[in-house]
Amino acid sequence: MPHHLPPLFHWEGGLKLTKADLAVDFRRRQPRAFISHAHSDHLARHAYALATPETIALYHFRLGTRPALPVPYRQPLEWGGLRLTTFPAGHCLGSAMLKAEDGQRSLLYTGDFKLDESATAERAELPTADVLVIESTYGTPAYRLPPREAAIEQLLTLVRQTLAEGAVPVIQAYVLGKSQEVTKILTAAGIPVMQHPKVFEVSRVYQRCGVDLGRCELFRGEIEAGWALIVPPGAGLSDEPARQVRIAVTGWAVDPRTKYRFGVDHAIPLSDHADYDQLLRAVEIVHPQVVYCTHGPESFVERVRDLGFEAHPLGRPSQRRLF
Ligand SMILES: [Zn+2]
Repeated sequence: MPHHLPPLFHWEGGLKLTKADLAVDFRRRQPRAFISHAHSDHLARHAYALATPETIALYHFRLGTRPALPVPYRQPLEWGGLRLTTFPAGHCLGSAMLKAEDGQRSLLYTGDFKLDESATAERAELPTADVLVIESTYGTPAYRLPPREAAIEQLLTLVRQTLAEGAVPVIQAYVLGKSQEVTKILTAAGIPVMQHPKVFEVSRVYQRCGVDLGRCELFRGEIEAGWALIVPPGAGLSDEPARQVRIAVTGWAVDPRTKYRFGVDHAIPLSDHADYDQLLRAVEIVHPQVVYCTHGPESFVERVRDLGFEAHPLGRPSQRRLF
């Protein structure tokens, strides 16, 4: 064992908090699992789950009602020999970072997060920790986003222009999180929104959790002039000749080829993930003794080392290590 202290976590096809035997964001069923947020790549039908109340509502909506213990933001819970505290991750409704303390050391797991404001999720809050496990998928300088305000302005201008021309703005956005974010941005600017049924059913959960999405209705196949339509990626209005302008809202829009790849007329770079600069800023705020980077490129690990932190990649499939 590399340390004199008992390990805080180990890797077993995913992150496990050793003392509590708690799996973190596993995609396959576990006896005890923490769910950072309700995107499907972080979910499984666990025997017992810990998550924020909002994530539990979305988890139950997606996978059915199952045993789950709510862990509201900033309310420490003594559980399995650890003190567990969730903090807002700013990614989607209920999204949380998890801080685990064993009395000697602390670990912060970020999950998916972003640092700047969100219209439908509580803004991220980063505590300090000794060990940081950071989701670094976008840890490349190519993934640098324009300011959020600029992306919103671009979206509103495009939607208003489309409506003024008598066409329907059809916005493609991921059904959980991005769709509600775009809805709120549009309705707050006075543009009413219709939603594809797949989007609308998730919005109902948001609304039940107290998120006001403004003037937003279920799309039943017909749309009046002046309304925007939000659909899942790849979907559209089938009943031509209604003239439509297809807009994808995705962080990938920083790549100018995105609109061709997505088969849309425009792509707007509004993301629910931290970009390269935000990832590095997060490391500096948490100020850990050691950083473990999951999902990201090796070059990001090196960049974190350049900032003066001990850093390692984490999560190669064959890896089983104790930390
Ligand atoms: Zn996510």
